[in-house]
Amino acid sequence: MRSDNPGFVPDSPFSKQLPEEWLNFFKTFPKLELHCHLLGTTSKETFEELVAESGADVSQEEINNFYTRGDKPVGVLRIFRCLERKVLSKPSFLTRITLKHIQRVASQGVKYIEFYWNWTGLKHFMTYDEARQAINEGIRQGMQRYGVTARSIPSIDREDTPEAAVELVEEMTKHPDDYTIGLGIDYRETNHEPENFWKAFKMAKEAGFKITIHAGEFGEHWRNVETAMKLLGADRIDHGYTIIDNPELIKEAKASDMHFAVVPTNSYYLRTLSDEEWAIKHPVRKMVELGLKVFPNSDDPTMHHISISESWLLMHNWLDFTLPQLRKMLENSIEAAWVTDEQKAIWKKEWLKEFDRLSVDLPPVN
Ligand SMILES: [Zn+2]
Repeated sequence: MRSDNPGFVPDSPFSKQLPEEWLNFFKTFPKLELHCHLLGTTSKETFEELVAESGADVSQEEINNFYTRGDKPVGVLRIFRCLERKVLSKPSFLTRITLKHIQRVASQGVKYIEFYWNWTGLKHFMTYDEARQAINEGIRQGMQRYGVTARSIPSIDREDTPEAAVELVEEMTKHPDDYTIGLGIDYRETNHEPENFWKAFKMAKEAGFKITIHAGEFGEHWRNVETAMKLLGADRIDHGYTIIDNPELIKEAKASDMHFAVVPTNSYYLRTLSDEEWAIKHPVRKMVELGLKVFPNSDDPTMHHISISESWLLMHNWLDFTLPQLRKMLENSIEAAWVTDEQKAIWKKEWLKEFDRLSVDLPPVN
């Protein structure tokens, strides 16, 4: 039954009945999360609290609707817009959402997280600096209370103008800090091509920020992935699924050691593939088969009704990746993190060892 599955994904012909020990394994092995959106981590409970505290004109029915994910999900962007336009009127709300998410992922083995947030849609409520400081306060408290290292990635709202993106990068450059490490781009990709924002990416690169780009998320042409990689200088790609349609580009992605932060609960493939074909035809399977470096992420966990550990569980028990393949994905995610090479080497040594220790005694699955 879809309603019993993590993220309400369809049943998979690859699924087996996993003993409790396996479920615990997915929750406990040390992991990273590099692709999730701050607003997409807002729980229904927090959403309700913030509506009450802000006095925003949002009905309970609307909220219930936001947190109902149908069999053919239409995505979560309308929920983000409601938060931006009506609810997130105070910077302290951002601190609260940040801290709550860090608390949540700490219980799922996450040691390091990089997350996206948008300022453009919040501009009518607060300055970039106010938003940045509020989020950083959440990051600081998250480290103190839960021992998770978090970093933030302000992101371009691609439904807004390229000039708004330039303004964002100007603000990032004006207010540098240790927690804000790169520039992303999100919201609706269809008809909002990445190259429109070349100037903002160029400025960010020159200012020393890393770059990650959502491309090929909703079935868009592989050209967007190519533009992200070759024109805009992406350090990693979010989604990137349509690269499987271009063998030449796959070769280039491998040669340049590109990493792909994929999302098993991606709305587009849940909507466009039939229940019977979803697990079999999910493009992530093809990406791995073709030798691309991928790793799973939760994207908008409270709205996809998924946790980061369940995203890993889906990779194994729905999309049929073996434990050695998951271990490789963990290694990929460490390589893709925006930390020093020394830090990566330490994490690889410690966390892969812990992955091996926790997985070696797992009971056989029938
Ligand atoms: Zn995303």
